[in-house]
Amino acid sequence: MPIYEYTCLVCGETFSHFWPSIKAAVAGSAPVCPICASPQTQRVISQVAVLGGLGGLTPGEQAAAKAQEERLAKITPQEQIDKLRAGKRRV
Ligand SMILES: [Zn+2]
Repeated sequence: MPIYEYTCLVCGETFSHFWPSIKAAVAGSAPVCPICASPQTQRVISQVAVLGGLGGLTPGEQAAAKAQEERLAKITPQEQIDKLRAGKRRV
């Protein structure tokens, strides 16, 4: 199970996210920040490089995954953000 580290571009929080597989990590959008629920998170690339050395992503796949994440981060469903914010209000 790949574990990627992300940094929140809004509040600066660094957190780890567990993916069920490398494929899911590549296909999935960046996780939202657990602190401020911002979708503006960025994978810490050094962590990917370590996993890549273990037979994970090739540099080309890393670049593609990063580009896709950046694209998806801009189109994170508003519904998902609202759900997270609503959840915080209830708690
Ligand atoms: Zn944050």
